[in-house]
Amino acid sequence: MKPAPFDYVVPRTVREAVDALGDTGRKAQVLAGGQSLILEMHLQRIRPELVVDINCIPELGHLSVADSTLRVGALVRHAVFESPGAVAGPLGALLARAVVNIAHPPIRSRGTMAGSFAWAHPASEWCAIGVALDAVVELRGPDGTREVAAADYFQGPYRTARRPQELITAVRLPLLGEDTGVSFVEHRRTHFTFAQVAVAAALTVRDGVIGEARIGLVNSADRPVRARAAEQALIGAEADAPPAGHRLPEDHPFARAGRIAATEDAAPVAEPYADVEYKRQAVAVLVARTLREAAADQRARGAAHQGDHR
Ligand SMILES: Cc1cc2nc3c(=O)[nH]c(=O)nc-3n(C[C@H](O)[C@H](O)[C@H](O)COP(=O)(O)OP(=O)(O)OC[C@H]3O[C@@H](n4cnc5c(N)ncnc54)[C@H](O)[C@@H]3O)c2cc1C
Repeated sequence: MKPAPFDYVVPRTVREAVDALGDTGRKAQVLAGGQSLILEMHLQRIRPELVVDINCIPELGHLSVADSTLRVGALVRHAVFESPGAVAGPLGALLARAVVNIAHPPIRSRGTMAGSFAWAHPASEWCAIGVALDAVVELRGPDGTREVAAADYFQGPYRTARRPQELITAVRLPLLGEDTGVSFVEHRRTHFTFAQVAVAAALTVRDGVIGEARIGLVNSADRPVRARAAEQALIGAEADAPPAGHRLPEDHPFARAGRIAATEDAAPVAEPYADVEYKRQAVAVLVARTLREAAADQRARGAAHQGDHR
């Protein structure tokens, strides 16, 4: 199928883009990476009257760090995060582990993190990391700029707090300290399909005890989920776990957190190849596995850090 006819504009500044989105009274869509929009237009599930192509706005292409915060401009492509040095420390490691799960290289070379936040697919890796880390979405509209916390931003499948006239200019994520270990684990049916379930975790450990836990669940509800009940259950627990390959005892804090995430935090929606019970089981297993890997990552970081100071 071909897209329905539409007008097309290429603004050169954020102001011009916002004017285009707000002024016309026509149904408009932003074109960023085009990796979701173009497909939907071809299927005519989306029929915009106007497409606002933001790819020629240089100020949207910046990735920067200030005040312990990473700012990801709206044109920063997924693939940027594949490079291990793109973002320093545990946050960079988490983004690098997650990004390779997004589709395949051609899609990652065009698609953007801000586009994923705008599209708000429940199986988006970035969106779950966003809620787990308390990301902030920067929005520019006819009345100026506003910032929305990820917890308030996602409102359901493909539904967000963004108003139609607003452009996402950037997504902000807090950097993570060196005492934080991270991991991301995904389960999907085939290499290129969306996640059936995935989990992002960041564990802050001091003297072997968990001080803070952040867990994001992908495709485990109609929107990205922060597994707060599971996080709470981990505070004060010891971060030790048997080495990989050894079974995690049922009463281990990570196994318990997995069961809590599956029953109290997740609200799975059935899909053709994964019913609700299957997804709950996947959440339980993946949360435990991700926490175990995050704890191992934190120990490795601690050892490397000590080595640096010898
Ligand atoms: C085969 C395939 C597999 C995929 N697998 C995955 C996957 O596993 N995980 C995953 O997360 N994604 C996946 N995607 C989607 C991909 O990550 C997209 O890149 C992403 O969803 C949207 O980013 P984009 O920059 O391409 O946005 P576009 O396609 O350009 O836009 C998508 C929507 O967001 C809006 N939008 C985009 N940018 C802005 C902005 N700055 N401000 C306001 N609105 C904006 C557009 O108007 C449109 O409605 C897949 C896509 C395909 C085709």
